[in-house]
Amino acid sequence: MHSKPAESESVGTHKTPIWWSNGAFFVGVHIAAAVGIWCLPPARAARHTLLLAVCMWQAASMGITVGYHRLYSHRAFRAAFPVRMFVALLGASAFQGSIKVRGCLRHRLHHRFTDDPRHDPYAATKGFFWSHMGWIFFKSQYDRLKTIESIDLDNDIVVRIQHKYYVPLALLTGFILPPAVGLLWGDPLGAFIYAGLVARLLIWHCTFLVNSLAHWDGLQPYSDDNTSKSNLLLALLTCGEGNHNFHSFPHDFRSGPSPLDWDPSKWVIVFLQFLGLASGLRRACVEDISAAREHMLQKEIALVYASDSTTDLEVQDEVWSGETWTKELLAGFADAEGRCVLLLRGYAVDVTEYMTEHPGGASLLRRYAVGRKRSTGNHGDGEDEADESRQRTADWAFHGGINKHSQAAKRLMRKLRIAKVQ
Ligand SMILES: [Zn+2]
Ligand SMILES: [Zn+2]
Repeated sequence: MHSKPAESESVGTHKTPIWWSNGAFFVGVHIAAAVGIWCLPPARAARHTLLLAVCMWQAASMGITVGYHRLYSHRAFRAAFPVRMFVALLGASAFQGSIKVRGCLRHRLHHRFTDDPRHDPYAATKGFFWSHMGWIFFKSQYDRLKTIESIDLDNDIVVRIQHKYYVPLALLTGFILPPAVGLLWGDPLGAFIYAGLVARLLIWHCTFLVNSLAHWDGLQPYSDDNTSKSNLLLALLTCGEGNHNFHSFPHDFRSGPSPLDWDPSKWVIVFLQFLGLASGLRRACVEDISAAREHMLQKEIALVYASDSTTDLEVQDEVWSGETWTKELLAGFADAEGRCVLLLRGYAVDVTEYMTEHPGGASLLRRYAVGRKRSTGNHGDGEDEADESRQRTADWAFHGGINKHSQAAKRLMRKLRIAKVQ
């Protein structure tokens, strides 16, 4: 079924070239910060300097959570141009790559292929150290990158400018701005050490904990489809990204549905909406969230599901009370009505209204849709890829061929069924 042999894909660090410049910069900042702290211990640093360090750490963290993660990676809301510019600057100060590289490439891959040691850049299955920072030292080749939709990022002028001038922007906001501000109270060196170097370490490691700690220890109230977990400590360190088990609902602008969740990023987005600078805030369906929690609760008390096979929502027997179509009727419906319909486990699933929410992008859904309106993709997919995808089915793609879908995704798929297909 898989026409591309696994051997051709870069799978491990033993084949992957070391990224010397990245590693040297990462280690160098750690050493410089340690030397700086040794020369100027916190007790001798100006109070304003330490306050500036905390502010710059939190500002960079907001740039990552509100900007890189929720706005750009998951399109969880729309933001006005000044907001996009501001979060792009704050995000650049975090020294984690440009929006395009980090937001599109690595994070979308992580969500799509969570825990897959081959395709998830931060796969927790490769160990805590790897998911935290081991990946920084290698120039990994992401073979499934071409399946990641990035047209929304390519069309955003802020993303393009930030990507082009990323290095000077990062240096300016991360290392030049702090001592310049420190001049105001006569402590440029202290500001460089604490608000420059030390604050970079804080933003790095707190963000990296989302890939390591949040896949290692915590609660799983929504799903156990992958290793993602919820952790209050992490929420406190990352402006609210601690409820990582909410992975199943990535398009939600919140990190969790409860108003009691510690989630400053959510509060900032709501405030931006109040100011008229953000719109289109997306929330996961309440019933889907409740169903996910109920599912986990029932699993926990072992009342309903007796074996693994029956926990898969798709294989539970049920009586279908809707229409039954032939394949010809289905193809005619899809073409005539211009609908994007997938054929999954013998059911026609109309995903037309869901396409913009699909974490994997609309073009991927079109590629496996019924009828002749398939897309061949728009991100460098060659003819070979198009031919391959035509021979594959939506069933193959949905049920592990491309990535493992969550119970929440399967539940949504069931809700979108329009007919049984003979
Ligand atoms: Zn994750
Ligand atoms: Zn995410």
